[in-house]
Amino acid sequence: MERRHRQRERPLGIVVQKYGGSSVATAEHIKAVAGKIQRARKAGLDLVVVASAMGKTTDRLLRLAGEVSSDPSPREIDQLLATGEEQSVALLAMALHDRGVPAVSLTGPQAGMRATGRYGSGVISEIRPGRIRRLLGEGRVVIVAGFQGMNALGDVMTLGRGGSDTTAVALAAALGADRCEIYTDVDGVYTADPRIVPGARRIPVISYAEMSEMAWRGAKVMHPRAVELGALYGVEIHVLSSFDEESPGTIITGGEKVEHLETRETVAGIVHDTDVARITLNGVRTGPGTLSKVFTPLAERGISVDVIVESGIKEGVADIAFTVSRADFAEARSAAGKVARALGGSVEGEEGLAKVSVVGTGMLNRPGYAARMFSALGSEGIPIRMVSTSEIQVTCVIPAERVQEAVRRLHRDFELEEREDV
Ligand code: ADP
Ligand code: ASP
Ligand code: MG
Repeated sequence: MERRHRQRERPLGIVVQKYGGSSVATAEHIKAVAGKIQRARKAGLDLVVVASAMGKTTDRLLRLAGEVSSDPSPREIDQLLATGEEQSVALLAMALHDRGVPAVSLTGPQAGMRATGRYGSGVISEIRPGRIRRLLGEGRVVIVAGFQGMNALGDVMTLGRGGSDTTAVALAAALGADRCEIYTDVDGVYTADPRIVPGARRIPVISYAEMSEMAWRGAKVMHPRAVELGALYGVEIHVLSSFDEESPGTIITGGEKVEHLETRETVAGIVHDTDVARITLNGVRTGPGTLSKVFTPLAERGISVDVIVESGIKEGVADIAFTVSRADFAEARSAAGKVARALGGSVEGEEGLAKVSVVGTGMLNRPGYAARMFSALGSEGIPIRMVSTSEIQVTCVIPAERVQEAVRRLHRDFELEEREDV
């Protein structure tokens, strides 16, 4: 009885939809999104919608902060940035009201999103979905501000750039939604950024593992933490275009749904990231515990380190190089400088770098990918500064100004161009 009742109330279950900045860039865009939501609702879905800030609002607010202060407080930056998504959800609710759709907008804190960690890179610690559930029960479309949650102090925190994807997938997990739809300005995940490689192909289905690696390596189309949450809670993610309703997009799902034949394509895609700086500690005394002395102070400051290379080890002295994002460069350089001097060495830094990666679970246990990558970059005359490899990716650090050439060349050499057989 109870079951039948619930089925009648929610014949098709809950779907979480997320609309990115370019999808809500102007009043016209917001009205178009309202139309899409109305159509989905007519199809019988219970909808929770997550929206990003309009267009480049977050960038504009960050610039403003830099104009009024040389060192704006991270707490105040989050207070400011959170207003971006708050604007779009309120506007979207109004546009839905105009269409006669009962909708209500909520900030992250109002929606029960709890966060912890550092301002500017908060992580979702808990979701209390009671209010959302009640509103859905009343037949409303619930619109939640992405990229934000409330910390233990009652302050709003943002989740790191691109974090609205993570809000959406986390909500889908907490609500037991059927799927999470990510609407953006491209119609899916491609074998390389389609803005750089015109011949890139849309990937119809991709595993969480491959998508996670692509996202961590810089494929901006999905926030990496969103993919990890999807994998953890089994939320199927559909990446779709806000503008092209015909395209089936990309489904991100468990490995069992992705073809496992040995002959399947081994490389999923070529990914790049231009937010890279390198720091080198030259001539430092090395021995057991040295790496911990270098990296513990960085971890304590919440700085993520990526590619790490220790080289030139001779008579107890070595060079240690690693990469960080540009935002962390100054702080990481100063922290590493102190350690370098204490160990009898010096520090040096280089900005203007990029990473380019070849990613694919099919590379597992098949040798030769790194060599193929080096030879492709070599024949293009692109210098390789650092290398890191794992079972499912090879990454080279190169000068940022060569990154587009590198991506195009690798896309061609790894035979990812448009083909007939897919
Ligand atoms: P949104 O504002 O909707 O969150 P983003 O700008 O964060 O959108 O992400 C979409 C962008 O990701 C695309 O415009 C595209 O340029 C970029 N992108 C990078 N790599 C890829 C890829 N492999 N496939 C698709 N898009 C990619
Ligand atoms: N508005 C935020 C950003 O620009 C979050 C997001 O769009 O996902 O990074
Ligand atoms: Mg995004």
